Amino acid sequence: MPVAAYPAAMVEAMRATLAATPGRRISARGRARAAVLVGVVAGRSPRLLLIERSDTVVHHRGEIAFPGGRMEATDRDLWRCCLREAEEEVGLAAAAVELLGRLDDLVTSSGFVVSPFVGVIDKLPKLVAARREVKRCFTPAAAPLLSRAAWTLHPVWDGSGLRPIYALASGRPPIWGATAAILVDLARRLDPPPAAGAGVAEVVAPGGGSVYRPRAEQVPEPVARVAPTTAGAGVAEVVAPGGGSVYRPRAEQVPEPVARVAPATAGAGRDLPWRRTRDPYRVWLSEIMLQQTRVETVLPYYDRFLARLPSLAALATADEDEVLGLWEGLGYYRRARHLHAAARAMVAHGVPADSAGWARLPGVGRSTAGAIAAICFGERAPVLDGNVQRVLARLLALRLAPATPMGGRILWSCATHLTPATETATYTQAIMELGATCCTPRRPDCATCPWAPACGGRALDWVAELPARTRRAPLPHHREVAVVVRRGDRLLLRRRPDGTLLAGLWAFPHTRVVGGEGEGAAARRLAAQLLGRPSPPLAPLTRLEHAYTHFRITLHAFFLDPGGEPAAAAGEWVALAALDTRPMAVTDRAVARAAAAAFG
Ligand code: SF4
Repeated sequence: MPVAAYPAAMVEAMRATLAATPGRRISARGRARAAVLVGVVAGRSPRLLLIERSDTVVHHRGEIAFPGGRMEATDRDLWRCCLREAEEEVGLAAAAVELLGRLDDLVTSSGFVVSPFVGVIDKLPKLVAARREVKRCFTPAAAPLLSRAAWTLHPVWDGSGLRPIYALASGRPPIWGATAAILVDLARRLDPPPAAGAGVAEVVAPGGGSVYRPRAEQVPEPVARVAPTTAGAGVAEVVAPGGGSVYRPRAEQVPEPVARVAPATAGAGRDLPWRRTRDPYRVWLSEIMLQQTRVETVLPYYDRFLARLPSLAALATADEDEVLGLWEGLGYYRRARHLHAAARAMVAHGVPADSAGWARLPGVGRSTAGAIAAICFGERAPVLDGNVQRVLARLLALRLAPATPMGGRILWSCATHLTPATETATYTQAIMELGATCCTPRRPDCATCPWAPACGGRALDWVAELPARTRRAPLPHHREVAVVVRRGDRLLLRRRPDGTLLAGLWAFPHTRVVGGEGEGAAARRLAAQLLGRPSPPLAPLTRLEHAYTHFRITLHAFFLDPGGEPAAAAGEWVALAALDTRPMAVTDRAVARAAAAAFG
């Protein structure tokens, strides 16, 4: 019977087993050393001393761990390092701990050689989370954590590829990684596995240390669906083009992608206009409009665009102002200019018949090209838009941000692998629909998800944290001024030049406020340039805030009436009543409305 079943004998069993089979040591040559304290609080029902890392700890935020840390030059040995760290982190005095023995050294994914020491604490003093990186310390009952049956294996991608890691899936929050491996080592000593051939297989990890993994048949459903690890029956390893290994699940690990996901489209899927067609023009238009834009926003724009420009030829021959005008309000105006340029290229050279051809057109990335080719031509081309990235990152419990090179490579390899050779169009629509309606960013509906049995993120309770995000610096803030120059019932407009933000749209003359300059002074500086002479003080018209993708602006608009004498400014004088015919960015449109209200 496992020792966890009779906890009163646990400490003595640990003492005996650690004396009989001391932990294996790994040379730390060229690597950093660390030590952790597996503190066992003695009693009729022993407990374990654990900490939760605070949210400020990069890469390990919120993780459950044992007290411990990197060895310092002043530490006489690893045991002293372990005690010092425990004292610094949770205020546990060294005298309160008796050493029982040492577990197997292990190598963490960040390259540390970690030595776990088991120590018994007869009388637990009052503990305090003493370091900034420790959110809290707590002492859960040891028996449930030291039962081998409590642990399951999951394939988790880290920076170097897929590692099978142990996780206590039912824990809140879950315990995984090095802490889980240490607990499983201790559990395994107290409750030895059956003889080889019928139980747990042990393998030595390539970087040193041990990774233990059960046979596929030992892993309970649903983890067995994603956890098999032996070649030929589970995770296949392929060498990535750029070097290193990328692992991808075999098709049978993800249950019947098409059959299971297709009903999301066939049954509960939304009835969207671009789902009723295989016309490349319409599918392409919808894919471009849907980039960074929600379906509900796109729907009226899509209908209006097609009503006005129903064919590729109509788009190719349209005036740029008309295309930009139909796009106004959708944002990311470069998409509209690329759309226009691509239409002209296709009228001149023909419509591509595969994803490679589509990917050569302006504004069409790999994922968009894949979606068009899969939906229109049935090509086996993967799609990886933001929604699909989220689904796959959760399915694979991927801890890397999709925006990182390795994270992107893993997701593309997985997306490629999962895309079926037949029913490609249905699958593509279905997985995009799954991401948009079921595996949503905030409240995924895992209960109805067809992939729930295979979902690593769900099994590990990581769904809310996935996909992992790269830290974004706060958006820079700029101040700008715009000057609305009036001549009779006309206002001065200029087209934003190529190669600048919002190129092609019409704008009021504007400039950035520099250094300690005030907005009024910046407006007078701009007005002087427009007039060719010093400007009088200007009347404020409106003020507004707007956030673009990479920065925020506060725009102050001023009104200038040169008093009937013609301005020396270059640009076009547009009647107040005709402002609506000129495509503008959202900030200029707001200024135009303010001007119409003031002068109209
Ligand atoms: S089970 Fe939940 S997290 Fe996993 S893919 Fe489905 S909806 Fe997303």
